[in-house]
Amino acid sequence: MASPHTLDLRAYDDHAIAVLGLGVSGMSAANALLRAGARVLAWDDNENRRNGAAARGLAPHNLETSEFADIDMLVLSPGIPCGRPHTHPVVARARDAGIEILCDVELLTRAAPEARYVGITGTNGKSTTTALIGHILSQLEIPNAIGGNIGAPALSLQALGRDGIYVLELSSYQLDLLPHAGFDVALLLNVTPDHLDRHGGMDGYVAAKERIFGYQTPGQSAVVCIDDKHSRTIFDTISAHDTATVIPVSTRDVCSGGVYLEDNWVIDNRNGICQPIIEMKTLTALPGNHNAQNVAAAYAAVTAILNDHSDETRTAITSAMGTFPGLAHRQELLGTRDGVRFVNDSKATNAEATSHALAAYENIYWIAGGIAKEGGITTLDPVFERVRHAFLIGEAAPMFAATLDGRVPSTISNNLNTALLQAVEMAVGEAVILLSPACASFDQYSSFTARGDAFRIAVNSLPDFVPHISGDTP
Ligand code: ADP
Repeated sequence: MASPHTLDLRAYDDHAIAVLGLGVSGMSAANALLRAGARVLAWDDNENRRNGAAARGLAPHNLETSEFADIDMLVLSPGIPCGRPHTHPVVARARDAGIEILCDVELLTRAAPEARYVGITGTNGKSTTTALIGHILSQLEIPNAIGGNIGAPALSLQALGRDGIYVLELSSYQLDLLPHAGFDVALLLNVTPDHLDRHGGMDGYVAAKERIFGYQTPGQSAVVCIDDKHSRTIFDTISAHDTATVIPVSTRDVCSGGVYLEDNWVIDNRNGICQPIIEMKTLTALPGNHNAQNVAAAYAAVTAILNDHSDETRTAITSAMGTFPGLAHRQELLGTRDGVRFVNDSKATNAEATSHALAAYENIYWIAGGIAKEGGITTLDPVFERVRHAFLIGEAAPMFAATLDGRVPSTISNNLNTALLQAVEMAVGEAVILLSPACASFDQYSSFTARGDAFRIAVNSLPDFVPHISGDTP
């Protein structure tokens, strides 16, 4: 008998389920399915992961050689390639056998069909928007859980019951593995080039993002930010279908029937009346125009899932937004030293994300580099004038130095600690030392989190550094 707080996966009792990929979400899925009585056949290409699973009581089963005819489904970790740049051999065999292939989020929606679901995707801003929506619902005392690509894996979340709302951050990889999930509110923030090798180019990436709306039905809501051309096209396409209620969101243009930004205020125009909601400058943990997109989208999503547009709820939502502490590694203010601010934006793993950080400050001493994405930092040209000096680290340093040549003075610092010390030496007055790498971290760190943590530790060890206390005005 499942406990009232455990997801009910008893439908898989005695089913043979293959689990490929034994990272955090794969292990959590395998264990949840085992507890439900499934026969779990778990595998990972990495021997250390297999040994780790075995040590925790999950005997590995080689899916590369096993007979697929008797297997009911394949639960795939989203990072495993299933098309581009190649197809993992186990995925190919599962396809040949006609087996359903999905990820843990799809299983969550099947295990808790009575709950409601908000799905959030986009190239940038997913984690911030997911956490903000979860924070608002918690402040409104509505049972909720956030997960998916952020925080806890989907199958480790609690059963919430019919009053509960799951708020799920969804990467394009996960969207490829959700064959049926229809979200009560599906939210698309933006689409700019990223992960193009995995999706075989921009068209494949856009198609994966559009999939979040694919299984919606009438009565559900689609919140679409329309500030980039790909999202705008998706908005036009889904508006032409007579399924979900489509709510446009813009930080650039007045959008009738939607939510938009005007004079730094978020305005709700869904009922044909321009209702001012919140002034962005009051939300100090959410600086910059990009965060206005996250706030406007979160507001649209929360009111849509609650189906409540009353003044009382609106006020409760805006005061909840005011207590959102922000997320680590996303333009996170670490503190100050002699008037110089230190900002950790390690999560900026592509140029688009970094463009928003560079636009949010002046007098910037910029630490960038790592493994560059396609196009490097050439698109950042319009915001280069805000940078006083760039300190370049990791593999991308020579390439970035070439892009900056003649525009911004730069130093090849190679590593983060050297870059920080050089920046501290140079920055004076009302300056910002900003780590916003525009790159993946894997040449020097295990993750963007490890990179941001290393920056925080190095900054904290500077003499006379004053750490920022959450809630203080920067
Ligand atoms: P994701 O989960 O999609 O990677 P995050 O909320 O973790 O998004 O933010 C990642 C990076 O993108 C941060 O550097 C942040 O400053 C930037 N960012 C956040 N929201 C947006 C947005 N709406 N548009 C563009 N960039 C954003």
